[in-house]
Amino acid sequence: MITEEQSRRILDAVDAAFDSQLAFTQELVRHPSLRTHEGSAQDLLHAAMAQRGLEMDRWELDPGELSAHQGFGPVTVSYEGVTNVVGTYRPAAEEGRSLILNGHVDVVPEGPYDAWSRSPWDAPIIDGWLYGRGAGDMKAGLTANLFAFDAVRTAGLEPAGRIHFQSVVEEECTGNGSLAALLRGYRADAVIIPEPEEDMLVRANVGVLWFKVRVTGNPTHPREMGSGFNAIDAAYTAMTALREIEEKWNADRGSHPYFEKLEHPINFNFGGISGGDWPSSVPAWCEFDVRAAIYPGISADSAWAELEECLAGLSRGPEPIHAVPTRTGFYSEGYVLEPGSDAENLLEQTHRRVFDGDLASFTTPGYLDGRVFALYADTPALVYGPVSEAIHGFDERVSVESVRRITKSIALFIANWCGVKERS
Ligand SMILES: [Zn+2]
Repeated sequence: MITEEQSRRILDAVDAAFDSQLAFTQELVRHPSLRTHEGSAQDLLHAAMAQRGLEMDRWELDPGELSAHQGFGPVTVSYEGVTNVVGTYRPAAEEGRSLILNGHVDVVPEGPYDAWSRSPWDAPIIDGWLYGRGAGDMKAGLTANLFAFDAVRTAGLEPAGRIHFQSVVEEECTGNGSLAALLRGYRADAVIIPEPEEDMLVRANVGVLWFKVRVTGNPTHPREMGSGFNAIDAAYTAMTALREIEEKWNADRGSHPYFEKLEHPINFNFGGISGGDWPSSVPAWCEFDVRAAIYPGISADSAWAELEECLAGLSRGPEPIHAVPTRTGFYSEGYVLEPGSDAENLLEQTHRRVFDGDLASFTTPGYLDGRVFALYADTPALVYGPVSEAIHGFDERVSVESVRRITKSIALFIANWCGVKERS
């Protein structure tokens, strides 16, 4: 472990630079990095990493290459101009353990603009909260990674291990960004992902499947409605059947470690729907989007087979329903962070030093890029980050003091994990 005096210097350095850290986070939030529009935010991060003397790598995601991997999520958009950015720090002599500091730059749509108290792309700080779409999820964390590293160096110390700063895309829809960084060859002895996790560590999380169900009908004039087949009515039947699978999977939570005590860990979300062509025509089609979740240890293929089988066997009265699912994004499996790793043990110590309390761990029923590292690179993935409110909702915000403490904890982690040398 580094000395108490070195720790003190690092913690002071986080405080000294904290105003500029917040200013950079605000600037990043002002770039609306919605899916396929991450470019300007990535430019900003690229410049910030290059300015720190990191060895820079920026590349466009290649769906062809990615699709050969089992963790690939099918893509419904063009990846032209959609890039990951990675900055690498290499010590003069690589003697310590290596580390990946990962974060995603993409954000989810802001929804009805009028429901926000102010623009989602303003980033004001009010009463200790930094607001804006992506403030918590996860531009505060992405920025914290860089400023934690700064603090170690400002303290006069040089990490003795290799560090990769990853700013990835596609975390909110496929997970292909972190997967692309893995396929690019980036590996390390541990990874930290400062997602908004309420100052806690993620112990386990679900896998996620995205798909669209297309239901076909038979259009007729409503005066002879009985001879038609209403695709929208049939879509309700299909949704009800999917809700039954959801409840069945939830009822099974007792046999999945870390999920036993959750009330409803498996959530199916109907995230979009459209259908029909005319109020006075029985609808010939209906499509709806689904996000489903699966437990760690359940393969995406087996879950998919069960969903397909469910939809294939539906009927309304004597009429079979034609409901065909197509994958549209996430096709990912969940993971468990097995307790007892050196990385977790160290994080417990740095957390306790900064927060003056024990590090709590918990199970989250949402997708995390941690699965890429845990499932495909056998790397301890520490998903650990600040207190937030309303992520994916209106008036998303992140707690400023929580960000400060998380940054301090990550800075101490970097120094102790990689080891440090005093700069001569
Ligand atoms: Zn996130």
